Amino acid sequence: TFANPDDVLKAIKDDKIEMIDLRFVDLPGTWQHFSVPPQAIAADSFSDGVGFDGSSIRGFQEIQESDMLVVPDPATAFLDPFTEAPTLVLICNIMDPITGQPYSRDARHIAQKAETHLRASGIGDVAYFGPELEFFVFDEVHYDQGTNYAYFDIEAAEANWSGRGGSGLGHKLRPKEGYFPVPPADTLQDARTEMVTLLEQIGIPVEAHHHEVATGGQGEIDMRFAPLTRMADDVMIYKYVVKNVARRRGMTATFMPKPLFGDNGSGMHVHQSIWQSDRPLFAGDGYAGSSEAMRYYIGGLLKHAPALLGICAPTVNSYRRLVPGFEAPVNLGYSRRNRSAAVRIPMYSPDPKSKRVEFRCPDPSCNPYLAFAAMLMAGLDGIRSHLDPGEPIDKNLYDLPPVQRAQIPSTPGSLEEALNALESDGKFLGIDEVFTHDVLETYLSYKRVHEIEEIRIRPHPYEFVLYYDA
Ligand code: GLU
Ligand code: MG
Ligand code: MG
Repeated sequence: TFANPDDVLKAIKDDKIEMIDLRFVDLPGTWQHFSVPPQAIAADSFSDGVGFDGSSIRGFQEIQESDMLVVPDPATAFLDPFTEAPTLVLICNIMDPITGQPYSRDARHIAQKAETHLRASGIGDVAYFGPELEFFVFDEVHYDQGTNYAYFDIEAAEANWSGRGGSGLGHKLRPKEGYFPVPPADTLQDARTEMVTLLEQIGIPVEAHHHEVATGGQGEIDMRFAPLTRMADDVMIYKYVVKNVARRRGMTATFMPKPLFGDNGSGMHVHQSIWQSDRPLFAGDGYAGSSEAMRYYIGGLLKHAPALLGICAPTVNSYRRLVPGFEAPVNLGYSRRNRSAAVRIPMYSPDPKSKRVEFRCPDPSCNPYLAFAAMLMAGLDGIRSHLDPGEPIDKNLYDLPPVQRAQIPSTPGSLEEALNALESDGKFLGIDEVFTHDVLETYLSYKRVHEIEEIRIRPHPYEFVLYYDA
């Protein structure tokens, strides 16, 4: 990592860098990029920015006001492991050239504002995030409308989307059998190892990798926790590395939360904790080794969960994952071990430094900058307003009698519900200080117009099963 622009400029010379790739995130959370030759970057590029046309970026400017600037963050520089010519990547913030101010719809800026808000609140000085992104690697994907039966027929899914690399029926991982027999049942060991090696080369420490529960090559790589914005950057790098290693090996990786009906989906459980001057604020002598601050933080996550999910589980497909029976949370409770609860307090280690909250609802289709910022704001609201999370739920929620289970609030049933909750309960996001009205309105309208409505007007393949013979 580099402390300042001069270090980056020196590395460009020393390492004979031939191209600089500038990256930023659009509002839904996909990395965008353009490249400039090294001589186009000087010390003042890091303060004055580099111009680009922001008019066709999702969630950004209208055509008539399209000129934008990207301002590279020198601390994010890394060598792209996938290019032929030595290419240095710089993650950027976005600046409005007219006002010279940070662009309000830049999610990275929102994440940075959430960190500033935490420090100003006096509650703590750093928030650590540790997301566990799951993903599927498939051999190939066909999604021509009407011919793809994969997403409602697990048998057809296995035939079409094996992810098994040809290991054959003898070592077939059937649904929910992926966790986690050795090869040849697991055909992706080398692919995941390559992903981990590249992440570590880039400077992202990894704790473990493994096959996940679902058939068809579901995997997980666990990064070590890091401060909020840094971790969101790392999530973008992680997705980039996973997708490109799969691609280089003739396969394809996806972070969509529920590609296969009848098998586990891909979550992004998010471990989080707040520290003040090197002191972990979440360790204490309460339930499961929690402090009062941690319980209030959980109270905030649970109270605002329906709204939070509009940002943390932000796709129509997210709600096909949040159903009973697939290790995804459906009830808004908390517990020390219970994987059916939305919030878990992991008990891996007695070390107070490892004490953290695990919020299990998010999935990797989210924009990590917005998701981490929103979770922190919900937790801080819990701490400030002393939101009591109630009693823990240590029974398997899936096994509770329906009457008892009905008393525990559930995760929203659809993106539409979650967005409505976000619209009515958005105040905890620190309107005009962290999130803005403009960014929330733009986000809600983008999701409603381009995702919910576009799916609503298309016939679903399963409708042919139900209604063709009507
Ligand atoms: N894949 C599950 C989910 O959708 C989680 C499995 C696990 O506990 O790691 O959240
Ligand atoms: Mg997992
Ligand atoms: Mg987990």
